[in-house]
Amino acid sequence: MNRTQVAIIGGGPAGTLLSHILRRHGVESVVLERRSKEYVLGRIRAGVLEQGSADILREYGLGDRMDREGQAHDGVYLAYRGGRFRVDFRELAGSSVMIYGQTQVQKDLYDVVDAEGGVIIDEVEDVRLHGLTDDRPAVTYVRQGVEQRMECDFVAGCDGSHGVSSSSIPDIVTYERNYPFGWLGILSETPPIAEELIYANHPRGFALCSMRNPMLSRYYVQCDIDADVSDWSDDRFWEELAARLPDDAVTSLVTGPSIDKSITPLRSSVAEPMSHGRLFLAGDAAHIVPPTGAKGLNLAISDVVYLSRALVDFYASGATRALDAYSDTALARVWKAVRFSWWMTTLMHRFEEDGSFGPKVQEAELEYLSESPAARTAMAENYIGLPL
Ligand SMILES: Cc1cc2nc3c(=O)[nH]c(=O)nc-3n(C[C@H](O)[C@H](O)[C@H](O)COP(=O)(O)OP(=O)(O)OC[C@H]3O[C@@H](n4cnc5c(N)ncnc54)[C@H](O)[C@@H]3O)c2cc1C
Repeated sequence: MNRTQVAIIGGGPAGTLLSHILRRHGVESVVLERRSKEYVLGRIRAGVLEQGSADILREYGLGDRMDREGQAHDGVYLAYRGGRFRVDFRELAGSSVMIYGQTQVQKDLYDVVDAEGGVIIDEVEDVRLHGLTDDRPAVTYVRQGVEQRMECDFVAGCDGSHGVSSSSIPDIVTYERNYPFGWLGILSETPPIAEELIYANHPRGFALCSMRNPMLSRYYVQCDIDADVSDWSDDRFWEELAARLPDDAVTSLVTGPSIDKSITPLRSSVAEPMSHGRLFLAGDAAHIVPPTGAKGLNLAISDVVYLSRALVDFYASGATRALDAYSDTALARVWKAVRFSWWMTTLMHRFEEDGSFGPKVQEAELEYLSESPAARTAMAENYIGLPL
């Protein structure tokens, strides 16, 4: 095949969801993915779906397994000063989030793309974009040593933070904040410590208790930016986690061997604009958020919703208004999620450079949140996801 309507670079959640939604609306696409299918399906990443993201997956026939195996959560706990309080999403904002791993979302997407005859070409190398400001752009790539050329109407850059698409936008400006710490995360086949997530602010640093299903827990502790994962035995991790959690939670902590252990640096980054000629960026190709607010995967989904609507509109009527507005439309939502993720990161982590002042302000804000339904409502609205 050497021609398609939309060439999609990257077969992560953004690229495969875009391909699937377009196909359901009769628009052809080809996904070019650098890694093998097995590699993409094995990646362990996000786990919290906003209400709007879950609704989009349902609308496009991807909700059955999610609704069967996922867990709807109506709230989260925030812990500090040895205690914790709950932010009740349903009571405050009328909705919930869905706990369903990105690994599962990705599997559902590959399954539906395969079942419906979508095209994902994996293990491509040296992807290059051409003629983005012409009427006939093209993508070249190498597969199994042979260079190929694909002509298209549009290119969707869904190739994540290390892709090639964003560097094809000549005057792109990146707004960035690097946080001076990382997250050491483990996955363990143990029952979760609580029925809902616990975010803990502690003098030793942040901790998060999350989960993927009733026998798969995901835990994180804030660590030094240059920490080495090999210095963290499972025992050391569990001790550190327990030291940062309220006593009433620790009594329910079930430990076990980790089946995955990794360190993730924390960064906020937004590239503007998200389009250039016939190239449109979506997901991590355009923005990165620290995982504290659980927004990365959700932003990839909301970008894809805006972009697919604009492309479907174009193919239905020839109108370019939504495509022309895509970058501004997507960025308006992206920045609100970036703000929320930055706010949660700033509220919950230990920042050495803030000395003794920082933790006092954090505790005052946590106390205010615990006392004020208005403050909790603002958090709940953002956590379940702003409207698409
Ligand atoms: C280690 C880790 C942990 C995370 N944890 C969380 C979390 O807990 N909560 C949360 O909300 N978010 C988390 N995220 C973020 C979330 O996973 C991402 O926001 C989400 O994957 C974005 O989807 P995407 O499709 O835009 O990008 P990606 O998932 O990165 O997909 C991009 C795809 O493009 C491919 N690609 C790259 N370059 C090329 C190229 N040149 N040619 C062809 N293909 C290319 C890549 O192989 C990849 O498959 C995490 C991310 C990482 C890396």
